[in-house]
Amino acid sequence: MRRTVFDADHDAFRETVRAFFEKEVVPDFPQWEKQGRVPRSFYRRVGDLGVLGMAVPEEYGGGGQPSYKFSAVLTEESMRAELGLGAMRVHMDIVLPYFLHYATDEQKRRWLPGIASGELMTAIAMTEPDTGSDLAGIATSAVLNGDEYVVNGTKTFITGGVNADLVLVVARTSPPAPDNRRAGLSLIVVEADRPGFAVGGNLEKIGIKAQDTAQLSFSDVRVPVGNLLGEPDMAFQHLTHNLPQERLSIAVGSVAAARAAMDAAVRYVKERKAFGKPISAFQNTRFVLAECATEIEAGQMLVDRALDDHDRGELTAVDAAKVKLFCTELQGRVVDKCLQLHGGYGYMAEYPISRLYTDARVTRIYGGTSEIMKTIISKSLGL
Ligand SMILES: Cc1cc2nc3c(=O)[nH]c(=O)nc-3n(C[C@H](O)[C@H](O)[C@H](O)COP(=O)(O)OP(=O)(O)OC[C@H]3O[C@@H](n4cnc5c(N)ncnc54)[C@H](O)[C@@H]3O)c2cc1C
Repeated sequence: MRRTVFDADHDAFRETVRAFFEKEVVPDFPQWEKQGRVPRSFYRRVGDLGVLGMAVPEEYGGGGQPSYKFSAVLTEESMRAELGLGAMRVHMDIVLPYFLHYATDEQKRRWLPGIASGELMTAIAMTEPDTGSDLAGIATSAVLNGDEYVVNGTKTFITGGVNADLVLVVARTSPPAPDNRRAGLSLIVVEADRPGFAVGGNLEKIGIKAQDTAQLSFSDVRVPVGNLLGEPDMAFQHLTHNLPQERLSIAVGSVAAARAAMDAAVRYVKERKAFGKPISAFQNTRFVLAECATEIEAGQMLVDRALDDHDRGELTAVDAAKVKLFCTELQGRVVDKCLQLHGGYGYMAEYPISRLYTDARVTRIYGGTSEIMKTIISKSLGL
C-alpha cells in the first residue's frame, strides 16, 4: 500500500541519509559491533550534518524542525541498512524531548547547542538493578543540601551510558505519597565528569552489539540545583508526557527491521536450492513470506497513522502502547519466520538475519515490556 505519511522533503532527507549510511557507516559497523560502541566521531559527524539537532530550535544551533517524521525516516533507514544505532535514537527521540519541554532558558543555552552538535551525548537512567517496570520502586536518591543535590544509587541497562556526557537521572527527591507511590521522583541532569559518577563497564548483550549499555553508579555526586529538569517531585508526570514518542520510535524501528528481515529472506530463498529447486519454489516459503508481507503492511499502516497523530499532538499513551505492542510482537514473529527460511545459515553470525533475530528480542522488553503495554491498554478498557 502506498504510504501517504511523508512528503517530498522527507523523501529527499531519506535519500541523503541512505547514501550517508551506505557510504560512511555500513563499512565500519562490524568494527563498532566488536567494540561494543559507536565512536564519538560518528556523533560529531551526524551533529555536523545537522541530523542530531533537527528538532532543536534554531537559536540553540538546531534545525528547528518540529515534525517527528524526519527522525522516523532516520530510524527506518538505519534499520534498512541493518544498523542498530539505538544510542543515537535514545539521544534524539527519548532524551532530547525532556530538554525541549522542561529546560529553562538558561538550561537550554547551557546544553542544547552541545546536544545538537554531538559534543554532549545523552542517556536516560530510570532502571535500577532492583526495579525496572515498577518505576515507583526507584531507590536512587537526590537529597537537597544547600544549593546542591547529592545523588546516590545505581542504574543499570542504560543505553548510551558509556559514551554519555549528560545522564538524565530519575531519582527520589521526596518520600512517596501515601496514596501515590510514584510521587516524589525528579529528573536530575548529571554530567559524566562529576566526582562520584562511575560507569561500571559496557554490559555484554546477545544483540544490538554496537549499542553501549552501561551500569552507572552515583556515590555522593554533587550537582547544582540548576541541574533539576522540570518540576521537583514530578518526574513521573514528565516521563508519562514523553512516553508516546519513545514507544512510537521503537515501533517505527520494529516494522522497518521486520521489513529488512523479509527482504533478506526473499533474497536468500531465491538463491538457496533444495531438492533440485530454489527454496522460493516451495509453497510453504511463498505462504510464509506472504504472511510476513501482510503483517508488515498492517504494522506499517498503524505506525503511519501514529506518526500523523503524533505530529498533531494527538498520540495518546494508550495508543502508543497499542502501537508498540503490536509492532514489536510482529517483528518477533516475522524475524523468526525469516530466520527459519534460512535453515542452518540463519543461525550463523555471518548472515544478517541472525543479527536481525538477536537484535529484535529486546524491543518487547525495553521502553516498557509487552506485559506493561497490555496493562496500560487494559486499564483503558476500565479493567
Ligand atoms: C538493551 C536494553 C537497553 C535498555 N535501555 C535503557 C535505558 O536507556 N534507560 C533505562 O532506564 N532503562 C533501559 N532499559 C531497561 C528496560 O526498560 C527494562 O529492562 C524494562 O523496563 C523491564 O524492566 P526489568 O528488566 O526490571 O524487568 P522486570 O520489571 O523485573 O520484569 C520481569 C518480567 O515481569 C513482567 N512484569 C513486571 N511487572 C508486571 C506486571 N505488573 N504485570 C505483568 N507482568 C509484569 C515483565 O513484563 C517481565 O516479563 C534497557 C534494557 C535493555 C535490555
